[in-house]
Amino acid sequence: MMTMTTYKPDFKRAYVMANSILVTASELVEFPLKVKFLINKNQDINCCSFKKAQQKYQLSVDNFGSKSAILMEMDKKMIIFYNESEPKPRIRFSILHEYGHFVLGHDLETKSKEQYIIFEVETNFFAAQLQMPEQLIRYLQARGIRVNVELLMEVFGVSREAAEKRLKTLSQNFQLTKEEKLFDDIILDKYQNWLVSKLSISSELFLDDYEKQMERDTWIY
Ligand SMILES: [Zn+2]
Repeated sequence: MMTMTTYKPDFKRAYVMANSILVTASELVEFPLKVKFLINKNQDINCCSFKKAQQKYQLSVDNFGSKSAILMEMDKKMIIFYNESEPKPRIRFSILHEYGHFVLGHDLETKSKEQYIIFEVETNFFAAQLQMPEQLIRYLQARGIRVNVELLMEVFGVSREAAEKRLKTLSQNFQLTKEEKLFDDIILDKYQNWLVSKLSISSELFLDDYEKQMERDTWIY
């Protein structure tokens, strides 16, 4: 008899993890996310630029190859080394990608190619939800704002590639518990000020439509 292990990305777990960070990290109140700040607050993990790796850890750039960021254990502490010379949106995403591996407990030493690919998919989804929370995107859409690649790039400070991917991975329709669903309201509440300030002009334009729609919706009942 042949046994086969089938690997599948656990999107829900990555989503819930990202949400719980959005909710509990008191230093996060706006976008683009203060990624380095978020990670350095965590005692078990730190960020370090390739440039500073030399003096801090005696590592040369050759240790990192062509990578944008890499997660390594140094003196029993996890460090995300990142290439400080890349564009900011890319740096943020690369750091969050590595952070996702850490938070999701991925064993990057795995020899299985399939498993490795699953880890990559999971952590990319985690990073996308952290950088561009679905709840905030839905909020904008509910206000009649057309959420496209350009808007995501502008509002969340992400790269074109990340914005394109995010649009494709929305609407996973997870089965969430009551507690997990509570995150939605808390996230909307926590980032409300930022949303309003960022989109004050657009909101004024679109609020009327939204209110009219709300009124129409109430007629149904
Ligand atoms: Zn990776």
